[in-house]
Amino acid sequence: MPRRAHNPEPARDIPPVALRHDIACNTGNADVFHNDTGYSSYREAAKICAHCPARTQCLEWALNTQQQHGFWGGMTAVDRQDELRKRRRQAARNHLLTRPA
Ligand code: SF4
Repeated sequence: MPRRAHNPEPARDIPPVALRHDIACNTGNADVFHNDTGYSSYREAAKICAHCPARTQCLEWALNTQQQHGFWGGMTAVDRQDELRKRRRQAARNHLLTRPA
């Protein structure tokens, strides 16, 4: 059983990497990842994520599933929304650049 069983939602709200036993957030205090008002809590989570071997996979899962809460892949929900906007702008620019004249 993963220690990061923080979310009462069904398994679809747990990234595949959270089922791994070797990732950082399964070995510590899961609460630091789910306090949307606690900046100091997220600072602690950021330190943990910084050394996680699954960070990229975790972040992509959080972006793809549009997680609205919690600290995933080294980012807050606000950071992830910014990242999604940045990616959409980049995709739109790329589309314009590759569009036939
Ligand atoms: S990146 Fe952070 S939230 Fe994601 S699996 Fe690793 S430690 Fe957990």
